[in-house]
Amino acid sequence: MALPDPLTATTSPGPTSNGALYRRLLREAVVPYAGRIVAAAVCMVAVALSTAALAYLMDPVVNQVFVARNADLLWPVGLAVFATFAVKGVAAYGQSMIMTRVGQNVLCDLQNRLFRHLLQMDLAFFAAHRTGTLISRLTTDIAAMRVAVSTALTGLGREALSIVFLVAVMFYQDWLLATVAFVAFPATVIPITTLGKRLRRVTANTQAQTGALMTLIEQSLAGIRLVKAYRMEDYEAARARALTTSIRDTVIKAERVKAVASPLMETLGGVAVTIVIVYGGWRVINGDTTAGAFFSFITALLTAYRPMKALANANASINEGLAGAERLFAVLDTPPGLAEKPGAPALAVIRGQVRFENVAFAYDEGLAALKGVTFTAPAGKTTALVGPSGAGKTTILNLIPRFYDVTSGVITIDGQNIADVTLPSLRAAVALVSQDVVLFDDTVRANIRYGRPEADDAAIEEAACAAGAHDFIRALPEGYDTIVGERGQALSGGQRQRIAIARALLKDAPILLLDEATSALDAETERQVQTALDRLKQGRTTLVIAHRLSTVASADQICVIDQGRIVETGDHRALMASGGIYARLHALQFSPGIAAD
Ligand code: ADP
Repeated sequence: MALPDPLTATTSPGPTSNGALYRRLLREAVVPYAGRIVAAAVCMVAVALSTAALAYLMDPVVNQVFVARNADLLWPVGLAVFATFAVKGVAAYGQSMIMTRVGQNVLCDLQNRLFRHLLQMDLAFFAAHRTGTLISRLTTDIAAMRVAVSTALTGLGREALSIVFLVAVMFYQDWLLATVAFVAFPATVIPITTLGKRLRRVTANTQAQTGALMTLIEQSLAGIRLVKAYRMEDYEAARARALTTSIRDTVIKAERVKAVASPLMETLGGVAVTIVIVYGGWRVINGDTTAGAFFSFITALLTAYRPMKALANANASINEGLAGAERLFAVLDTPPGLAEKPGAPALAVIRGQVRFENVAFAYDEGLAALKGVTFTAPAGKTTALVGPSGAGKTTILNLIPRFYDVTSGVITIDGQNIADVTLPSLRAAVALVSQDVVLFDDTVRANIRYGRPEADDAAIEEAACAAGAHDFIRALPEGYDTIVGERGQALSGGQRQRIAIARALLKDAPILLLDEATSALDAETERQVQTALDRLKQGRTTLVIAHRLSTVASADQICVIDQGRIVETGDHRALMASGGIYARLHALQFSPGIAAD
């Protein structure tokens, strides 16, 4: 399945323009906070006005106090300066607090939206995207956006407005001088925008590589036993080193671009200031303007320098943030692969009969995993799926809860096409116990409750009893409140399986999909797990990928799968008697000393 990969979207500059990205960010994320933004804007105007007022006040300070030595105006002018500072301080505080809140809320919303969206994606999406990359969308990219959004929202407007007002002061005091100063401006702006573009490219690379590094680390740590067993430590370390070095070099490159930006501005600014001082001084000496007007002008010019520098830096961090936003939106825009039909009814399970009619399926186009599979799993009975590894057994199970959609053919439950009913009702009807038992790093109780979130403690313990898990759970240090550890490592294989069985019992779904564990359990544990499974299967339509002779022999029906097709169907006795593939497979798989696949 061809999915747009957000990772590729990072390495090539996406088709979305900065302007479009901005508008989208504003529309989707910022608009809900419009009220608070208006309040912040009021503060923003106050800050900018008082900044310009301070520059303007230099005129009376110099002309009245220093040149004219007017004692009556000393205090009023002094107090006016103080009052302006006070207004500026209060407004600056108000503005940055409001905008910080808005910025953090925007990011919090986006993070939640992205995670929800990820949870809704189908399995094909997760097969196509590396976990590390997805994690980096939620962490690194969001962090870059956090910086960008807070810079953009808190500082940008304020700095821009300050510049506007300061420029107004400059023109008011001496329009000729102001015109001269502005000849130098375009010269500073052009190099800054080019730098910004370069930075965005470099940052995109860093983030893609960081994603790859996270995936690598996650995989090597998750498979640490394998790494050690095959002595692949050096190999893995070398792979990580290649990535970290490359990230280091890219980051240094990005920092170099950033480091060039401000000295460059400063030097260019210096040129402008020199021109202004020489030309302005000459005008004051000639009596074309007053000293007060000139000092007010030069104060405005120098004050404008800081906001201009801030704007230049903001450009850089906003570009980083926009790169993050672009990748984030790429994920958000990937539609969940499986769709419900509009107005689909809920699945009504009456007896729980599952039927495959001429079902074909391919994970990747052209490579058929199932071809023309037709069979009926009778209600309340156990159907065992057997066959060599890669035959398509897991695929059959995956199709029933619609983890994937069939390529052609129909799957029905009690006569209703599963593609025509709502997903929640379908998934509620199916319980899955897989061979790689998944436990979350939470309490035993919470892990069992996953089967039915509204279940009370009594129901949980009842399910645990039925699964033969109650006794060992009670013996754990904190009983049902023991944390099972990451992936349930604190428990043995048999214990994990019984917790998974308890979870399925609690769910009490009419259809049970079972992937029997291949790993050998000791005889006693095996017996306990088997008893629990037998109880779980009772009265449910069960489809089991069988690896044990006892499971196959006791199944009501056996489907033998080979290369994506059902090649034989019948019960154990009938199939043995016919002497076909099953009989051969049976001799191979279940003869002593040869492990199942
Ligand atoms: P079994 O459970 O019988 O061992 P599977 O149903 O897992 O077999 O696999 C059937 C075929 O589909 C195999 O050829 C396998 O390589 C392929 N396959 C399984 N899962 C995927 C997947 N996620 N993406 C692509 N191909 C897959």
